[in-house]
Amino acid sequence: MKSSLKIFTVFGIPIELHISFLLLMIIIYAAAFAGFISFYLAFLITLIFVTVIIHELSHSYVAKRYGVGIERIILFPIGGVSAMEEIPKDPGKELKIALAGPLTNIVIAAICFLLILVFGYTEFLKLSYIFIIALEEYNWGLFLTNFLGVNLILGIFNLLPAFPMDGGRILRAYLARNRDYVIATKTAAKIGKQFAILMALTGVVLFNLILILIAIFIYLGADQEYQAILVSSMLEGLRVKDIMTRKVETVTPDNTVNETLYKMFKKRHMGYPVIEKDKLVGIITFDDISRIPEDKRDITVKEIMSKELILAHPDEGVATVFEKINRKAVGRLPVVENDQLVGIVSKTDVVRTLEMLEKQRIGS
Ligand SMILES: [Zn+2]
Repeated sequence: MKSSLKIFTVFGIPIELHISFLLLMIIIYAAAFAGFISFYLAFLITLIFVTVIIHELSHSYVAKRYGVGIERIILFPIGGVSAMEEIPKDPGKELKIALAGPLTNIVIAAICFLLILVFGYTEFLKLSYIFIIALEEYNWGLFLTNFLGVNLILGIFNLLPAFPMDGGRILRAYLARNRDYVIATKTAAKIGKQFAILMALTGVVLFNLILILIAIFIYLGADQEYQAILVSSMLEGLRVKDIMTRKVETVTPDNTVNETLYKMFKKRHMGYPVIEKDKLVGIITFDDISRIPEDKRDITVKEIMSKELILAHPDEGVATVFEKINRKAVGRLPVVENDQLVGIVSKTDVVRTLEMLEKQRIGS
């Protein structure tokens, strides 16, 4: 089942709402209809998420200009996530990508401020008005002040040097100017985790659940990103052709699922490229088969194989491929050169290589 719903596409980037977010929206608008909260409050909460989308789009827009592929932006109740390919390890580019989000929010806040001045809504320019949401009457001055507040807070909050938040990425880009990228990430992640602990404590004192959730998110994210950077630096220089399996076992589209399953148990490989007249037409894995009831496994491979192929090239970096395997949550990628299947590279291959490199590192 899909866990998110696409609502629209901007700059070619699909914007998706996570199911938990949809649920939150339904609850909020139901509460407004039932009269528990005002419609203006419901509208304002929606506005916060519109601001989050604008923020994420700004990152993605700049990243896209640097050639980074953006898969989608997903909205969760605690914020937005841009699912993108690996960002180039270039401090200059990374700095601009990280700055784009918060800067856009601060610019929007500045525009709201100017509009308030131009239209003379200055009576709303008080700190206490930023979060006044009880007014039932539709009022442009209040709206502009609220929008200003949301953007200002989101912009400044994201600039906190809590890696992997934007401010933390900016810090890493700064640190990476004159030291090793892995060391810079390690330092930024350490500071990020300290900030997360501080934020969680603040959340407990203020009874703020969202703050606590964000703190957990940052703490785990900092470790995760550091590990990913460490892994990709260990794999640096290695190409797919150095580790791929060249003698590939394959099946044909007309093999039955039972035959393929038998092969899996015999050869102990859990996935096979499907070849028809020397051409790669699909891939079939143990997962695909286990979804078919046992008494229906006399059907052919072509009926259940995945035709959407994620491929690797022999000269592609192992780090990039490993990132692709993890992001797409697949076990293996067929390696194709000049339209010909030349090998297969699996997650296990990469993990084994990493284990060997780690042993070498400790041994030397
Ligand atoms: Zn951001």
